[in-house]
Amino acid sequence: MQSVLDGGVDGRSRNFPLGLDGFDFSDLSSDERLQNLLSTFDETLRAADGELYEAYLDYRQNQGADLDDIGISELLVRLAPHVGAFVAELFGVGDARHAVMERTRHDYDALFTYKRAVVDKVGAKFKTQNPSDWDLDKLDSDLELLKRTTSPEASEDRDAECAISVVAARLANLAGHYQKLAKGKPSDVEDADAQVEELREHLRVNAQAARTFADARAMKDPLEFVANLLGYVERWTYAATKDPAFASRVEGWVVFRTLPRMDFSQLVHFDSRTDGGVDSIAASEDERRRRDGFALTDARFGERDVWFEVDHCIYCHDRDRDSCSKGMRHKSGELHVNPLGVTLTGCPLEEKISEAHMLKRDGDNVGALALIMIDNPLCPGTGHRICNDCMKGCIYQKVAPVDIPQVETNVLTDVLHMPFGLEIYLLLTRWNPLNVKRPVALPYNGKKVLVVGMGPAGYTLSHYLLNEGFAVVGIDALKIEPLPAELTGNGGHLPEAVRDFSTIYEDLDKRVMAGFGGVAEYGITVRWDKNFLKVIHLSLARRRNFKVYGGVRFGGTLTIDDAWRLGFDHVAIASGAGKPTVISLKNNLIRGIRKASDFLMALQLTGAAKHSSMANLQVRLPAGVIGGGLTAIDTATELVAYYPVQVEKTLERYETLLADRDEASVRALYSDEEREVLDEFLDLVEQTAWPENIARRIRTRYTLTASARDAAGNNSEEASCVVVMGVVP
Ligand SMILES: Cc1cc2nc3c(=O)[nH]c(=O)nc-3n(C[C@H](O)[C@H](O)[C@H](O)COP(=O)(O)OP(=O)(O)OC[C@H]3O[C@@H](n4cnc5c(N)ncnc54)[C@H](O)[C@@H]3O)c2cc1C
Ligand code: SF4
Repeated sequence: MQSVLDGGVDGRSRNFPLGLDGFDFSDLSSDERLQNLLSTFDETLRAADGELYEAYLDYRQNQGADLDDIGISELLVRLAPHVGAFVAELFGVGDARHAVMERTRHDYDALFTYKRAVVDKVGAKFKTQNPSDWDLDKLDSDLELLKRTTSPEASEDRDAECAISVVAARLANLAGHYQKLAKGKPSDVEDADAQVEELREHLRVNAQAARTFADARAMKDPLEFVANLLGYVERWTYAATKDPAFASRVEGWVVFRTLPRMDFSQLVHFDSRTDGGVDSIAASEDERRRRDGFALTDARFGERDVWFEVDHCIYCHDRDRDSCSKGMRHKSGELHVNPLGVTLTGCPLEEKISEAHMLKRDGDNVGALALIMIDNPLCPGTGHRICNDCMKGCIYQKVAPVDIPQVETNVLTDVLHMPFGLEIYLLLTRWNPLNVKRPVALPYNGKKVLVVGMGPAGYTLSHYLLNEGFAVVGIDALKIEPLPAELTGNGGHLPEAVRDFSTIYEDLDKRVMAGFGGVAEYGITVRWDKNFLKVIHLSLARRRNFKVYGGVRFGGTLTIDDAWRLGFDHVAIASGAGKPTVISLKNNLIRGIRKASDFLMALQLTGAAKHSSMANLQVRLPAGVIGGGLTAIDTATELVAYYPVQVEKTLERYETLLADRDEASVRALYSDEEREVLDEFLDLVEQTAWPENIARRIRTRYTLTASARDAAGNNSEEASCVVVMGVVP
């Protein structure tokens, strides 16, 4: 088949050589060339590690028939860095990947060595002592001097948490080494004596350090010497757990973080109260996060927090106990059920979570992503704020589980934000040597499938069908905004490679509703980053044998007979179950009452929340939301967020009219009912100092009912600003 990418002047000019000899960007759109790329990977692996190459070929040929789960995991963990390095080389970002890995290994090791060797131990070590008896100012300046003198690079390049960790880890490792030797045990620190000499030299040449650490310098025994220096770090650390001024300096440091015990009766903390004779519960004040408008409400974990989660993981795959992936089972083989009655199935895709965490620990994001994408190629549509069956199934049931969705999403975003990161993700959807079932997408097999519905089910099915060689046409009743042709490549033109993901990233409060993704687009709120849908849309739209059409309703615009007439071999219905539930309540469709899903759709699809939108979606308070499920909670949060936006827009328009005409003639433009609403809004603005007070007044009128609590699950931030009333009086 002639590739759509083969011709065209523009197409050719968008081509460029890749980082591996003989490959250029256009090759990534050719089934045949991807097969060549796999052969080149094989060759590269053979040259790097002949034994691993043989094991890999065996695995690919036998599909793991002669390996158990532990064997497969071990092999994949050994292979993934090779995939990471190869893909990075292909896109010319090998150095960038290497630099991230180097920094991660160094800083990660330092942080968590400090945590385990010092932070976790000082409580017991100094339990009879009171830091207020110490000269804390001197301790602080001595430690500063020690850091500056012995690890100047850490003090300059790293934040305070990392800088102290570097010094602490070095001293703790040396102390551990000499303690082992003293007990006649082997130690793998090879250059300990040289390091000690270097430390002594640093302290000697700095006159102030030489005076301050004179006691340590006088100690000839290396263990006594490093233990003395480590003592400064230990005392400072203990002070940070006891002294309020020191404690405030380490606020937010992951090395001081402890794991909360799981309390299944209070997954979301709440306060009980009585409001107007009605018992209700509300999120605790200190756990509330204020929401302003419709920008992304959850920026996700930063690197340090993700590292904390990865460090919390004990990589259970090497004992075949990775219940996050495979489910938690009794000896009888039955799945565990947690105190909330949830069966602990683990990830429904059996994603290689534990294995990916190992790669993430080494800073190899591309390798980790390749592992994740074996079973979950459309991972932009999962992860944080989407699903957490993995987390519920984590081996930790008594303390907080590993926040796997945060790690998964972070691996993805770290790759997306690398140079050519989006292209790396897109390649891995079609070419992934770790996925031995289908390492390379198959060429077109002559069969055509119509997929009805472009929600998560429809887009996932389309992906798998395309990789099996089918041609796919996706339709959706909703209007789907086409992606720019330069991104998708069409009409014989190559797509333009995206070097910098931020150039196509759109802020949620400004983006135009794209229509792709079903309920993930118009149901899920701004707690989730819908740029991920764009990534998925692009992964399909770049495929030569895929087309998508919005505004086509199956059973209306297009019938099943039309489908057969058009030559489809198969029709797959992925139309969701998203019809609004019409409850059997008298007058339940009168004005003022809306179905929750209908409200969310209207809010999202009309763009009502946007400042520039003229959409006519009016809500008045107080409002009641019946039900305590996820849809109800989303409805409540959006309602509360939308109300001030709506009042503000009304005020702005009113004032614009007033600038042009006198008040009486402006008011005459409104009907009686419209005037009543207008006055209600104006009154609200007048009575309160807009906008903060108005927002607070709205928020405090509402509380979260018990029925909503459990449904809130991990979405504690939604629960915190919400509004769900179980009963409408
Ligand atoms: C408010 C809300 C919040 C949610 N939040 C989460 C969450 O945080 N995490 C999570 O994992 N899940 C969440 N869900 C559930 C999740 O959205 C659904 O499980 C998921 O969208 C189901 O995917 P689907 O592809 O089966 O269906 P849908 O997403 O419903 O997609 C079906 C598509 O088919 C189209 N369609 C329907 N009929 C036709 C027709 N006749 N012709 C053409 N097209 C048609 C629809 O327009 C739609 O685009 C939420 C759901 C709602 C309603
Ligand atoms: S996430 Fe939990 S269950 Fe999974 S490997 Fe890590 S510790 Fe084990």
